[in-house]
Amino acid sequence: MVPSALRIRLYPSHEQEFRMLRALEECRRLWNEALSHRKDRWQNERKSTSYNLQQWILTAERHESPGLASLHSQVAQDVLHRIDNAFTAFFQRRAKYPKFKKFSESGSFTYSQAYNGSVKPDLHRRRLFLSRIGNVPCVFHRQLPMDSRMKTCTLVREPDGKWFASMVFEQVVPLQDVLPLNAELTTTPIGVDLGLLSIITTSEGEKVKHPHLLRNAEKKLKHVQRVFSRKEKKSNNWYKAKQRLASQHAHVRRQRMDFDHKLSTKLVRAHGLIAFEDLKVRNMVKSHSFAKSIHDAGWGQLVKLTERKALVYGSVVVKVPAAFSTQECFFCNSINPVEVSIREFACRSCGRVLDRDINAAKVVMKRGLAKVGLDRPEPKPAEIGPLRAQATGPASPVEETGTKRADHVRALEAHDNSRGRMSQPFRADL
Ligand SMILES: [Zn+2]
Repeated sequence: MVPSALRIRLYPSHEQEFRMLRALEECRRLWNEALSHRKDRWQNERKSTSYNLQQWILTAERHESPGLASLHSQVAQDVLHRIDNAFTAFFQRRAKYPKFKKFSESGSFTYSQAYNGSVKPDLHRRRLFLSRIGNVPCVFHRQLPMDSRMKTCTLVREPDGKWFASMVFEQVVPLQDVLPLNAELTTTPIGVDLGLLSIITTSEGEKVKHPHLLRNAEKKLKHVQRVFSRKEKKSNNWYKAKQRLASQHAHVRRQRMDFDHKLSTKLVRAHGLIAFEDLKVRNMVKSHSFAKSIHDAGWGQLVKLTERKALVYGSVVVKVPAAFSTQECFFCNSINPVEVSIREFACRSCGRVLDRDINAAKVVMKRGLAKVGLDRPEPKPAEIGPLRAQATGPASPVEETGTKRADHVRALEAHDNSRGRMSQPFRADL
């Protein structure tokens, strides 16, 4: 089953927003009550608490408490689910012990079975019906997925006060023939090199410039931050400045999301196999002098979005080891020790002039194909065309060394065919 998601902006009226805020607050209280219930039972009776038990208590208590009764039953149940998940994560050592929640105007609540009629999108009248809230005006920027039903709908209030609805759809009719045959993958494979100067470089030679969203917004962010820190805490102006700061951060986040969405859609639409380097961003940020640029690049989100969309478009995303991808020559597999600052270099063995990033992207593509068990396809003339031209053209520094090189190149090309099998070790980590 392939899930797909749609996130839309909501424009609630004052009254609707009031109801939504009240739902947030009720969810927070329920969370705290459920948490202390679990805590107490463990401390006093050494008993663990199951979701089912809490669910049963909730049903009983809804008749007593008007606050709880004002919550939609699915929304209340979902809070118990969330706390159950939080404890599971804690026991599996993936997370810390769940915390009590303070009052906050930002947060989210979920209709867990939206197909039961609790949430009804109305594209024609541009509104979203939410049970216990009302018909909330909104903008559908695209059609709902075909032959799917809405599974969950989560309402999110961001720190800057904007409301969004995140809808997750599930296929009712299973999509057939989604995954193409292996043979089809080879027709449109692409390797992607993640970088700082160009945020991505593809094996087809396309470079997308780093948008530097954070760096561009930094001046303004700094200013807003400074204004905020000068205000007297909890004064009216402090709240206003806090809001402005939250707005600024949310703006950068949305810009990046937009950028990554467009890029990932472009990739999955055109390519059957997309290979990324498996970068350990967390390690890089720790050790690198340009940690901020790496954060700003947001490759993680790009890769994640691409993986998600690939499911829908029937493409395959693979991550390959990044080691030496910038130094290995795509054509002859030899390693060229080159410095990070060098953008273009001549391969030591075969003499081809390589653009560092494009070469790396091609190496990534080769490793990706090997990973899904496909041999590297013969490079098409179009692929090697520009590089050859550079290597043999009159303006090339490589050509100046004489005609001997041509023989040398030919010998290596023959050699290259036998070394094409060298990509096999990567199959080991399938
Ligand atoms: Zn080479």
